[in-house]
Amino acid sequence: MKNKKNICIIYTGGTIGMIKSEKGYIPSSVEFKELINSISDLKREEMPNLEIIQFNPLLDSSNMSIHEWNKIGQTISDNYDLYDGFVILHGTDTMSYSASALSFMLENLNKPVIFTGSQIPMCELRSDGYGNLVTAVLMAQSDYIKEVCIYFDGKLLRGCRSTKMSSSHFAAFASPNFEILASAGIEIEYNKNLLKRDVKGEFKFTPFKDVPVGIIKMFPGIQFKLFEKVMTEQLKGVVLETFGAGNIPSNSSGHLIPMIKRAYENGTVIVVCSQCVQGSVTLGAYETSQALNQIGAINGGDMTTEAAMTKLLYLFSKDMDIDEIRRMMNIDLRGELSA
Ligand code: ASP
Repeated sequence: MKNKKNICIIYTGGTIGMIKSEKGYIPSSVEFKELINSISDLKREEMPNLEIIQFNPLLDSSNMSIHEWNKIGQTISDNYDLYDGFVILHGTDTMSYSASALSFMLENLNKPVIFTGSQIPMCELRSDGYGNLVTAVLMAQSDYIKEVCIYFDGKLLRGCRSTKMSSSHFAAFASPNFEILASAGIEIEYNKNLLKRDVKGEFKFTPFKDVPVGIIKMFPGIQFKLFEKVMTEQLKGVVLETFGAGNIPSNSSGHLIPMIKRAYENGTVIVVCSQCVQGSVTLGAYETSQALNQIGAINGGDMTTEAAMTKLLYLFSKDMDIDEIRRMMNIDLRGELSA
């Protein structure tokens, strides 16, 4: 038997380890340990050596923030040389944000970091947690993966391309603008052409700083005035979730365009993404996006909102100057953006 790999499971919380309480589902540490110990597949000869690091407190991922992303990143960084791969057990609600954040924080990553969780807790009947966990662990020992991914319901997705699609189906995640990296049917098949290659340079962890960035979603009849102060004075970076290919209401642009202009002059970085989960922003394709193009808003291309928002945090955390941040937002750093 060849040398077994060492995989670290970082348990942060989420439905996978939750139990029912009077207030609804809550994370549990005691039951989860028992459940993990009862999974015979994890003890099979072909499985790697496993160690579990458990966070305290365990969280519903709706309660996660930059603080927890930094904690996950720091834990991986502290243990980077000790393990061949990492599995992060995490709630599904904000998993795409965390996976995107970690994709940026972990520079020159040369090992698998795989987020997974479940839609039904492992303590309940028909839980999808067992299958997700066992396959995520198998994938975490793969030599092909050198990036942050989400494994869920038979699919391995690039973390910074993923988004939560369903709150009720087992297929909770998709990466609509990027093909899946691997599929787990009878065989696990890796899409080797798409997976990241070996990176040169030393692994480095960049924690996020608590920079004020935000997401503003367009809706018909939006009263831009209400957002003026936030956009021009309070936020350093804004992701505008626009309609279709990057469109905003232009008949009320009397409010928005000068506001974005002021925000630009004040040094706010404005990135235009789309509310459509599939497709790309093309500023200037319609009259309703023309002005955005002219006043220095950044075309978010086919980035997810999650990737754009966490990329802003990453670049601000590196203390770059504003022009450099604006330039870098247009450059693909981790496979989050098509050319
Ligand atoms: N609210 C849960 C969480 O995100 C949902 C889940 O894990 O599926 O932690």
